[in-house]
Amino acid sequence: MSAQVQNGSRGPVVAPVRPQAASSSQPAAVSGTGASRTVDSFGGAAGSKEVTAYVNGKPSQITVVPVGNGQYLRADAADAYQRMEAAARKAGINISAGSGFRDMKQQQYLWDGYQAKLRGEKWAQSFNKAARPGFSNHQNGIAMDVEGTHKSYKSAAYQWLAKHAKEYGFVNDVSGEPWHWTYRNKVQ
Ligand SMILES: [Zn+2]
Repeated sequence: MSAQVQNGSRGPVVAPVRPQAASSSQPAAVSGTGASRTVDSFGGAAGSKEVTAYVNGKPSQITVVPVGNGQYLRADAADAYQRMEAAARKAGINISAGSGFRDMKQQQYLWDGYQAKLRGEKWAQSFNKAARPGFSNHQNGIAMDVEGTHKSYKSAAYQWLAKHAKEYGFVNDVSGEPWHWTYRNKVQ
């Protein structure tokens, strides 16, 4: 769920992610005559909203942008994600947004479920690893759990991402979670 995974026996495994501020990462497609940039089917900045994000437990205000399926990412990560998803589709790979930005309440819920699972409570067995509230890259708006990769490093979607995600600044940075991709803004 995050780069900062609380591991019961070892304590938090901290892998701080400090993305650069968004550079001028406008999409390539800008219409020549219109004032607004040309965007894909997600509608670009439409529907963006101000939210409280957390990095290493510290709150800040960021703008998140919808990326489909009711999910959001921080504006720069959203732009990169949408370009990546479009490129995947062109290559015949169907990926979509599973879980992006989470507010504190959502992360708390996932954390509580994960803790219950660790205690062996039956109802919670379907919860995944979750970072401590305030310490997930999902709360920073830069992590996306990608649909299409679930449960398998052998899936075509994972294989495509493993090869191409870095071209969009995304890395798979939680072991055991082929679906979890974090935007680091280091395009290769
Ligand atoms: Zn995740």
